[in-house]
Amino acid sequence: MARVDLDVPYNERTAAQQRGARWDPERSCWFVPEHIDPSSLIGWSPASDIVNARAHHYYLLEGIQACERCGAQSRVHAIVLPTGHEVRLQGQDEGHEEWERSDEPSLLAFVTALAPSVAARIREETYSYRARQTYPVAYHYNHCEFCGSAFDEYALFATPGHGFDVLSESAAAAIHVTVVHSGFAGAADHFSYGVAFLDAMTRR
Ligand SMILES: [Zn+2]
Repeated sequence: MARVDLDVPYNERTAAQQRGARWDPERSCWFVPEHIDPSSLIGWSPASDIVNARAHHYYLLEGIQACERCGAQSRVHAIVLPTGHEVRLQGQDEGHEEWERSDEPSLLAFVTALAPSVAARIREETYSYRARQTYPVAYHYNHCEFCGSAFDEYALFATPGHGFDVLSESAAAAIHVTVVHSGFAGAADHFSYGVAFLDAMTRR
């Protein structure tokens, strides 16, 4: 595999180094060494302008939701970033950007991009959470495991008492949580901060 070079601004070099980036003095550039998961550094890779969220680890949630079309009970999935994840802020000045650390976990919805390592990890759990071409961007949707129709993202992520927006500990206990101990990088249009009853969900 080709070495992944990074585009690290001078004032972010310490943060990049802490995430495993190495400095190549001969070529005067930062790069991802072979033993480091590149997804944790993808925010600095030149082709990753769209990435707006990153974390050292993440959670995959699995719940059950009735399909509106066929009525079957299908598994549905979601990504939660832990406390300490970072979200990219676009500044007022052209080209200026910075990463802001969150002191709350966040549930991602309307996901537009996932680092290859994250997408591969999700494939181990399900093929039903995947990108679907919609105008103007392809969002990731949960699809019914039985009839293939897409679940409404608002119903799953932003309707209290439905999907992943649970209102009680007992409802939370029906959601299973897998902790993924590798870096997250991706892009989402919607972040729900302060995930309710995350601690009451069932750890795998
Ligand atoms: Zn269905």
